[in-house]
Amino acid sequence: MGKLDGRVVLVTGAARGQGEQEARLFRQEGAEVVVADVLDEQGEALAKEIGALYVHLDVSREVDWQAAVTAARDAYGRIDGLVNNAGILRFNALLDTPLDEFMRVVQVNQVGCFLGVKAVAPEMTGGGTIVNTASYTALTGMAAVGAYAATKHAILGLTRVAALELAGRRIRVNAMCPGAIDTAMSNPAQLDPAADAEEASKALDGLYRKLVPLGRIGRPEEVARLALFLTSDDSSYITGQPFVIDGGWLAGVAVV
Ligand code: NAD
Repeated sequence: MGKLDGRVVLVTGAARGQGEQEARLFRQEGAEVVVADVLDEQGEALAKEIGALYVHLDVSREVDWQAAVTAARDAYGRIDGLVNNAGILRFNALLDTPLDEFMRVVQVNQVGCFLGVKAVAPEMTGGGTIVNTASYTALTGMAAVGAYAATKHAILGLTRVAALELAGRRIRVNAMCPGAIDTAMSNPAQLDPAADAEEASKALDGLYRKLVPLGRIGRPEEVARLALFLTSDDSSYITGQPFVIDGGWLAGVAVV
């Protein structure tokens, strides 16, 4: 028996990173999975490998959401789980951030989550779950990621309002707040064929040894297990909450 037997779950940004691990784990746990991304080659290869459906979905485009929902309905009859995982990060001091860059981060991270809730919740006629991927920076500041942190704070607001509005439809809505996780977003060496990504991971562990009580960067598989908890009946009485998964980073600072 899998924890997601009989469920149909759409994961955005699922071609790589945390979304990929969520898609893999959800399949292992018995769900039909819709792998959605803008990276078609990687997304299609993953879907083929795990026996899922791939859809091209730019989360910032409402027409793409409509097409993805239709494709999922045609393939599996319905959708009853959504993980809004797709996201982008841009580094810039606020005073140096061009408006276009700020708006692009808003459009993908924040509007993407809103459009996902809007497009998919009406499909969940028998109840369902929505997991929004926020961040450590949804709960505290971090210099040089102002646009990103603003959108991640906004995702928590959206999560709470959606939980209130959708509870009557038996749809639970929660958010994950990962700290530093070893994916291409935090470890761009993963995207560089010439780089040694494993060495880069070790270097990151060294950096986070000083910052994070648990002494290392997080793994995307660990976030996938939290997404599974929030998507399965194990969290049946939980809605509207942010879940921090950060190795203790937000707990405070050690002065000695
Ligand atoms: P990643 O860059 O490996 O994965 C992001 C995925 O989103 C990619 O597959 C990318 O193609 C996809 N994507 C980007 N723009 C898209 C769009 N417009 N439409 C559809 N898909 C799009 O990074 P990740 O760490 O796996 O990121 C997953 C989520 O976790 C993001 O929301 C990110 O903000 C969040 N997060 C990451 C970290 C971290 O340290 N890696 C920490 C906290 C939160």
